[in-house]
Amino acid sequence: TEEKLVNTEKLSTLGQIAAGLAHEIRNPLAVISGYIQIIGKDNERNSRYSKVMLSELNRIDLIISELLFLGKPQAVHFQRIDIRNIIKEVTILFESQLQQQGVQCVTEFQGEIPDCYLDPNQLKQVFVNTIKNAIEAMPSNGGTISIQVSPITHDELIISIKDTGVGIPEKVLEKIGNPFFTTKEEGTGLGLLVTKQIIESHNGQLNIKSEENKGTTIEILLPTID
Ligand code: ADP
Ligand code: MG
Repeated sequence: TEEKLVNTEKLSTLGQIAAGLAHEIRNPLAVISGYIQIIGKDNERNSRYSKVMLSELNRIDLIISELLFLGKPQAVHFQRIDIRNIIKEVTILFESQLQQQGVQCVTEFQGEIPDCYLDPNQLKQVFVNTIKNAIEAMPSNGGTISIQVSPITHDELIISIKDTGVGIPEKVLEKIGNPFFTTKEEGTGLGLLVTKQIIESHNGQLNIKSEENKGTTIEILLPTID
């Protein structure tokens, strides 16, 4: 636990530095991006190269967004919320992508779901990150994501996001959630870290269960208002 504490401390310092740096980096990036677009209009070769450069710039921007998030975990606006609405909103965002990739997404609400006291934007981020990972875990077209919400006790509910994707080997599972750990060519390795941080700042808990070649289940426990 001591090591974990040190890591958390390091992370929050890292987060603060990152947030400061991120703002400083974004402006020059925007200038570079503007000139690349101009040069890209010169000829066919420049146009090809500029596309690559712009997509790499996009990637930097994505990483910066996630770092910025880590840098300000204090910016929360808690309110009384029906978690089902958040989940519905996020699944709608993914509708066309799911359809394109032939992935089924089934949502099931069981029993009476009490309201939670939470920050809606942060919880949206949690579901965006986990559903995105679930989609990315599907080996090819097809697969199913099932999202279930049910109460466990009078003041706690469980949300499970289960996919039929590639799963996570045991050796890899240990490293997941380490900053920048990714197995993807285009990954940032920050999604689950941000997710875990959000859930913990809501006094909840995040568990990952996975079986190689079978799929992964992300379990989120959240306190409710009773
Ligand atoms: P990224 O998606 O950018 O790689 P994440 O923090 O979201 O970063 O995830 C870290 C790693 O955890 C992924 O690279 C992947 O190896 C693994 N992972 C996360 N979610 C899943 C999932 N649903 N199925 C299989 N592997 C997953
Ligand atoms: Mg991810």
